[in-house]
Amino acid sequence: MKPKILRKIADLRATIAGWRAAGERIGLVPTMGALHDGHLALVHASQAQCRRTVVSIFVNPTQFGPNSDFDRYPRDLAGDVAMLAPLGVDAVFAPEAAEMYPPGFASTVTVADLTEGLCGPHRPGHFAGVATVVSKLLNQVMPDSAYFGEKDWQQLQVVRRLVRDLDIAVAIVGVPTVRESDGLAMSSRNLHLTTDERAQAATLHRVLELAARDLAGGAKSGDVIARGKAALRDAGFDPIDYLEVVDAESLRPVPQAVGNARVAVAAWLGRTRLIDNLPVSPR
Ligand code: AMP
Repeated sequence: MKPKILRKIADLRATIAGWRAAGERIGLVPTMGALHDGHLALVHASQAQCRRTVVSIFVNPTQFGPNSDFDRYPRDLAGDVAMLAPLGVDAVFAPEAAEMYPPGFASTVTVADLTEGLCGPHRPGHFAGVATVVSKLLNQVMPDSAYFGEKDWQQLQVVRRLVRDLDIAVAIVGVPTVRESDGLAMSSRNLHLTTDERAQAATLHRVLELAARDLAGGAKSGDVIARGKAALRDAGFDPIDYLEVVDAESLRPVPQAVGNARVAVAAWLGRTRLIDNLPVSPR
């Protein structure tokens, strides 16, 4: 069944009010569209726990920097709706930018600390844009649960923190990364890769796997990072924004993977920036 397409916050609220009155559990899956199986995994996770699932599709301008890929970010609402229809998604919320940011809009949610490392310094303002739009979506839908991919690990931690700090009554659920058969994490941005770049892109995951294995065996972060960066350079990644070993929750760099660590990377292939991360399980 085709999902209901909602463009206005008032229509969204009216639809949700009916479900809420019937006592139905509601799940929210925030996306920027150009949907792939990674997004669908979030939908499945929501449907496993919730009677109703809302997928938001909004390419949020405030999380893109001035010289970033906002204009060329892939958009295909009809294709997205066609992917969601067979799943029985109840509603797609696809607002215009003016609906989300009307004239006079002046409020921003910032999450300190967690946004100081990893992607933070490379994408100034990005996480404030994410935190603000996620706060708005949570207030618009007021879901019981909201679903986010582990692929964007830093984003997942930022959302967990903002929900905790602002006492938003929602359960944040992280969903494992869905990958192509060669290990490349699915991403809407993969559409931008040339054939040659696509062939090289899987190196990102291979480097993370080797790093996670070495770290789990007791190797020092500095050594693992140096080896990984060399392998990425050989595969044509340039620049490498970061390859880091961090505590999975605080996101602070750790000299060795003890406890709950995560190895995370962001690097460019041509004009496309790719990110990925993996858990490290120490012996
Ligand atoms: P995006 O449309 O890229 O903003 O992503 C929307 C949501 O889907 C975010 O919570 C992402 O972390 C998640 N997501 C994107 N790619 C994947 C993937 N390959 N596996 C799992 N979740 C993903």
